[in-house]
Amino acid sequence: MDYDVITIGAGGGAYPAAFRLARMGMGVLMVDPKGVMSGNCLAEGCVPSKAVREVAEQWDRQRRFSSFGIKGDRSLDFAALMGHKDAVQRFRYEQHAKELSRTPGMTLLKGTAKMISDHEVSVLTDAGEKSFSGKYILIASGSDVFVPPLPGAELCLTSHDLYKMNSTLKSCPSSMVVIGGGYVGLETATFFASFGTNVTLLEIGETLLPGVDPEIVSMLVPQISSLVTPVLSAQLLSVSSRTDGKKIVRYRQNEMDLEIVAEMVFLAAGRRPVIPGGVRELGVVVTKKGIEVDDRMKTNISHVFACGDVNGKTPLFHAAVRQSLVCAHQILGGDLASDRMNFESVPTTVFTLPAAAYVGLTPSTLTERGIPFKRATYLFEEDSRAQILGETGGGIHLFFHLETRKLLGGYVVGIDAGNLIGEIGLAVSAGLSAGDLASFADQHPMASEGISKAARSLF
Ligand code: ADP
Repeated sequence: MDYDVITIGAGGGAYPAAFRLARMGMGVLMVDPKGVMSGNCLAEGCVPSKAVREVAEQWDRQRRFSSFGIKGDRSLDFAALMGHKDAVQRFRYEQHAKELSRTPGMTLLKGTAKMISDHEVSVLTDAGEKSFSGKYILIASGSDVFVPPLPGAELCLTSHDLYKMNSTLKSCPSSMVVIGGGYVGLETATFFASFGTNVTLLEIGETLLPGVDPEIVSMLVPQISSLVTPVLSAQLLSVSSRTDGKKIVRYRQNEMDLEIVAEMVFLAAGRRPVIPGGVRELGVVVTKKGIEVDDRMKTNISHVFACGDVNGKTPLFHAAVRQSLVCAHQILGGDLASDRMNFESVPTTVFTLPAAAYVGLTPSTLTERGIPFKRATYLFEEDSRAQILGETGGGIHLFFHLETRKLLGGYVVGIDAGNLIGEIGLAVSAGLSAGDLASFADQHPMASEGISKAARSLF
């Protein structure tokens, strides 16, 4: 064998395992057409979109406090904002490159891999095609933007165009249509609303954030900016361009054909797993969601693993990282079951302004599974930090087993949601009870004190 492990992709599903295995003395080859580590998360996903989000949040806060005399030019320098985003991406690429160069046993090859046997990949590089064999193969090829068969889809920008380095979007549009009410569409809609863009969001389904617990959606949506107009049950017909460059989006709603004109159209109709060539042909089981894996991240071929978005289980970067480490532990432990992935304790944040975050079991799943539970609530209207920031909407909701008082799940809508869900997620993952949370001195005056306060309400 040329290598102990070959990873297809060098994103969050691949490199944590690659580093761990290389540090344990294994020879690891990572293959990725980007020629850099970090996958789509850094290239066009979590990091660049949050670089824009955090500026939008500060923008909102500054506007709220403007009566205190913060002076100066209040117009948005969009080029500077995108420059900041690019700088963060560039800095992180350099950081990853340094880490890679310091780790012996790891090779990153720029190219696209396909599987030619269950121990071999063929890589198409700029210098031609080369084959490599590996004892273990880790498929971590991620996911890609789904472009529906919509006439005029090429006139829309996707998250790839918007968040990549040197974004296609060069100025802040005054009006925008977002196609898709999932988290990518809704997040982007709120960022631009903060910058003053009038956003119309078209969703084909009957609710926003399909797949998210309806209770969480109903808490979040009323708090979203009035500059975002959601249109539900909107069936897209076409996108076309006017002579002045503006776009016309045609859609059908309640059997009526309607249209909206906007400066820009952002297409966020979902993502699809990227299945490398040869995988299906080798008999690896692939469903509509992605490559099928167990909780050791194994496919039906025991030395072939699939981590991250490609298996469609919990398509989030941090879930990919954890899965990647489970895979590394499985390889290191031979066939001993030394670690397992708990797909249910992965926190998810919808980084809208304000955000919503959830982890574990929430009311819809608890009810569906017939699990008796007790709810503990802390509203941000009573929270000191929320009052200081003037952002008192939403709150923390925790769900405990009715008899054991074990924390089963929770959600947060409002300030610091993405941070608070970390503590709640850790408690779910560690199997903590209401008593454990209630006896912890959560910090004042931080919103996290609401977690122990909510738990104390059970006693
Ligand atoms: P995840 O977080 O699930 O690992 P990412 O999107 O962050 O997903 O990373 C997946 C990476 O896999 C991307 O950088 C993508 O370019 C790469 N990739 C996709 N298909 C192939 C392939 N056939 N060969 C090598 N790399 C691939």
